[in-house]
Amino acid sequence: PPLYKQRYFFVKDIVNQYKPKKVADLGCGNATLLCMLKFHSCVQELVGVDLLMDRLLDWNSDKLSPSIGDHLGPRDLDLSIVLYRGSAVEKDSRLLGFDLITCIELIEHLDSEDLAKFPEVVFGYFSPGMVVISTPNSDFNPLFPASTFRNSDHKFEWNQTQFQHWASNVAKLYSYTVEFTGVGVPPPWAKHVGYCTQIGIFKKKQPDPGSWILAKPTGSRVSEPEEHAYQVVFTASF
Ligand code: SAM
Repeated sequence: PPLYKQRYFFVKDIVNQYKPKKVADLGCGNATLLCMLKFHSCVQELVGVDLLMDRLLDWNSDKLSPSIGDHLGPRDLDLSIVLYRGSAVEKDSRLLGFDLITCIELIEHLDSEDLAKFPEVVFGYFSPGMVVISTPNSDFNPLFPASTFRNSDHKFEWNQTQFQHWASNVAKLYSYTVEFTGVGVPPPWAKHVGYCTQIGIFKKKQPDPGSWILAKPTGSRVSEPEEHAYQVVFTASF
């Protein structure tokens, strides 16, 4: 399958493996990933955040809404879907208490000022049980015919050393572990370049080593003041 689908399948596998209840996708684009995740019965809350939401509302809002089939075969557990217009580098208290936050091909679109704010917002404030970040691996770029950025809106493309250095520092600072993997395998003669898309999987360190996932009841963060920077653009409940 094409690379973008491999990234979505990668997240689906993570969801199958860890069974998160609350999942947020930052930089959700046209919400294709959210459309795929709504079929996972473990998921009870799905949130998408993007700066631009107009494309999405045109293309995919039907697919996110309950269909005839959803009414015929009701889910065991309720599901709510909310889409927000907003920036992944702004704090919004409605993103607190998530089990999994994904950022698929998002960080390379942040300028240096926003990239500097990103760890404190996502890891420090949202502080989910798990974070999955994917970004292009520039070590792979020589295998492409034209060796430039893969997309003109990319502010940077990191090689494996750069991404792993950034991610390890973030993990250390906010008490997460991080593992590196990716999707898009290179041809056998170019194994050294690594995956086309590099992925970091961050898990919050827990006092109890058996429970990686955010098990806090939502009430436990009452000390956190309500902060609403995002604008709701779509909701659905099943
Ligand atoms: N995650 C989607 C996917 O994999 O198909 C979309 C990836 S697209 C390359 C990057 C997305 O990030 C765009 O939809 C863009 O609008 C969004 N974006 C860029 N900067 C953002 C920010 N500061 N906050 C939220 N979304 C942002």
